[in-house]
Order: sequence, then structure tokens, then C-alpha cells
Amino acid sequence: MKYLYIQTFGCQMNIHDSEQMAELLRGEGYRKTDDIEKADMVIVNTCSIREKAEQKAHSQIGRFRNLKKARPHVLIGVGGCLAQQWKEKLLDKAPFIDIIFGTHNIHKLPELVRDVEKTRAFRVETSFHNETRSLGVLTLPDNGCVKAYVTVMQGCDNYCAFCVVPYLRGREESRKAVEILNEIEALADHGIKEVTLLGQNVNSYGKTLGNGYGFSNMLKDIGRIRGIERMRFTTSQPRDLSVDIIKCFGEVDALCEHIHLPVQSGSDRILEKMNRHYSSRDYFEKIVRLKEICPRISITSDVIVGFPGETERDFNETLDLMESVRFDNLFSFKYSDRPGTKAALMGDKVAEEVKRDRLMKLQAVQETYTFEKNKAMEGSVVKVLVEGRSKNSSEDVMGRTSSNRIVNFRGNSDLVGKTVRARITEAYLHSLRGELIEGQV
Ligand code: SAM
Repeated sequence: MKYLYIQTFGCQMNIHDSEQMAELLRGEGYRKTDDIEKADMVIVNTCSIREKAEQKAHSQIGRFRNLKKARPHVLIGVGGCLAQQWKEKLLDKAPFIDIIFGTHNIHKLPELVRDVEKTRAFRVETSFHNETRSLGVLTLPDNGCVKAYVTVMQGCDNYCAFCVVPYLRGREESRKAVEILNEIEALADHGIKEVTLLGQNVNSYGKTLGNGYGFSNMLKDIGRIRGIERMRFTTSQPRDLSVDIIKCFGEVDALCEHIHLPVQSGSDRILEKMNRHYSSRDYFEKIVRLKEICPRISITSDVIVGFPGETERDFNETLDLMESVRFDNLFSFKYSDRPGTKAALMGDKVAEEVKRDRLMKLQAVQETYTFEKNKAMEGSVVKVLVEGRSKNSSEDVMGRTSSNRIVNFRGNSDLVGKTVRARITEAYLHSLRGELIEGQV
């Protein structure tokens, strides 16, 4: 038996890509391990969406230099966006890498590994293909797992000025609906209760297929699959969040009361420079519509501070939008230049300390909103899909509400995979404490 250790950086999409890598390499006799000491192959699945993510990936790769020295038989593979961006140039920094494979070449891993095992010569595969052939690799999660990711589309055609994704993951490409639905049926047969549909811009699902079947059709069809109790999706471009998709929050029972809708800025001037194609008013109107259809919907978002040319006034407009929307949670980032993007070429860059101050201010404001929202849940009764044992205590289990909040409560492992009711007894910033209410949901 050979062992595979994968270290994943970045978003849910990368986590799912890593699951597919592990599945493909099962066929080559590799089993996943969390113990790097046992590994016969190490893969670093990298992210380079922001400068910090890229630095982290580089330093992680660097750490494997000693591993390779001590155990030369261990194969070192680097995949993901950094591999796509740097290609063979990565070897200048890290000549001990055996395989560099880009975002469109995950399906080639078995062949690359076989080849390198035989020849011990490095391989680099970073070309783009018309279709991403690893998309259809079915990854059945380990027994006892209740949720799974399903990729519905790859790449992105939006070309937001700050974003490197179209250059590293290629053009937008939707998977055929029948393949997605078959995959979800197989997952349901395997005991999966919750699926998260993945894509850079899932709202525009179907555009590249040109058959009139869009994302709202997909949500309704998945809603009819027996066994799938919950579904979520990420990520959405606000411009493409159509009325039909919004209506699904009122029509499709399995669709969770949560949407992640990255706004990026509250300033129309900056949104235009970012090439986002909506105004802060358009965004706010979509939020109002979502809340009309699904009053308890939880709204989370992404914001970038310090985009080139962002003034104090622009930043305050972002704070104003946050005050009107009152996001349930927010992921916020300091802008960083990404190679090849439009924004990287823009003048009027914001100083590092200004970005840092704005980020700290924004995060402090958001914490008050997040805590306030969590606090308002104290005393309420919520449905929780139990995902596993709690990290904090061996006597507790952990699950999530439909709004994607973590709830910990006393309970045994029999509850895993079940949807139960819990009363919220205490709210914290990042989770809720509850108590199980026995009986039917
Ligand atoms: N598809 C999503 C969208 O249209 O909003 C983007 C998802 S991206 C993988 C995750 C987040 O990283 C973005 O929403 C954005 O807030 C942030 N991000 C992307 N590029 C960035 C950059 N150059 N600097 C700082 N943050 C960035």
C-alpha cells in the first residue's frame, strides 16, 4: 500500500479538487493519510487568488525540500493555481518537485505519477483543454460523511479587474445537467444529505451549454432528488442573481436559508473600476428581494479594501452598505496585485498601512453585526444537520443550521447524519451553543 498526503490551500473548490486527486490516485494504489511521515507522495494543492495565499503556498513547498532530502523516494507534486501560474519556473525555486500539474490537468495525475515512478524524471503539465476532464470524477466521501461538494461549472468569464481566476482556471464551462444530477443521485445513495454546488459564478450556470436550462432549473431538479435534504451554492456574481434564482429560496425546500453574495465594495465608482457591472443600489435591491422571498435568509459576502484609487469616501460607502445590509458574516481582504489582471496595471495604489487600517476597522464593525445576529438567536429553536463530533468536547456533537451557523450541543454519535431540533442557549462570535430537543423534527 502507498500513502498520499495532500495539503490544500484556498477555497472549497480547491478542497474538492483535492478530493478528486485522491480519488484518481486510489486507482494507482495510493490511500490518503494525514500522517506525512507515512507518505509516499505529497501533493500541495495551491491557491494564488491573493498575494498572501501565494506566499503561503511557496513557503509550504519550500518546507518539502528537507523531506525530499531525507526520503528521496517520496514524490512531490504541486497542483492548483500557483502551479498554473508559475509552470516550470517553479522548479527554479524548488528543483525537488517531481510533478507540476495545472488546474486543467488533474485528470492526468495517474499517468503523470506512473511515468515519474518509472523514469524518476520530472513532469510539467499545465496546458488548458476545452473541457476540464476531472470534473466528472465521482468522489464518494468517507463513510459517515453527511455533505459533499459537486462542481457545476469551471472557470470564469467575468474578468473582474482584481481577479486572476480567468487566467488560471480558464474560461467558463458548465457541466451537463444530466451528469450533475446523476452525480448527486449517487451521493444521495451513499448517504449524503447535503450538497454544495461549486463554481466561480454558479448563477450563470448553463450559459455555455446554450440549451435554456439555467441555474434555477438545476436547483429545482436537485430539490427533487430523494435523500438530499439540503443544498447550498457558492459563489455568486450579484449581477447574475436572477429573479428566477431568488424565487427558488421560496420554492425549493432543500435550498438552505443562506446565500454568499460577494459585493466587493459599496462604492459605485470602485465597483465600476472593478468591472463588476452592478451598483451598490442594485446589490441592495437584490438583498431586499431575497429577504422578501425568504425572511430568515442569512447573507454573507466578500469585500476587498484598498482597491487602487479607493478613497476614504469610497471606503465609508462600503461601511454604509454594510450598515444597511447587516451581513451575517463577511470575508474581507486587503487588495493585492495579481499578475496579468487589469487592476495590477492601475495607478493610484493604496498604501499598505491604509489598507491595514481600513481592514481592521471594517472587521471590527462586522464583528459587532455578526455577534448581534448570533445573539438574537438565543432562545430560538433551530433545525441542525449533525455533521460529527464536536472539536471542543468529546461529549458534544456539532452541526449546522440552514443559515450555516455552527451549533455544538451534548449528544452522541448516533445523531450524525440526522436533522434534529436544538434550542440555542448561548451565542458566540463564531458558533452557537444549544441543547437537543428530543422528538420529531
Ligand atoms: N467568483 C467570486 C466573485 O465573483 O465574487 C470570487 C471568488 S474569489 C475566489 C474569493 C474572494 O477573494 C473574492 O470574492 C475577493 O473578495 C477576493 N479577492 C480576489 N482577488 C483579490 C485580490 N487581487 N486582492 C484581494 N482580494 C481578492
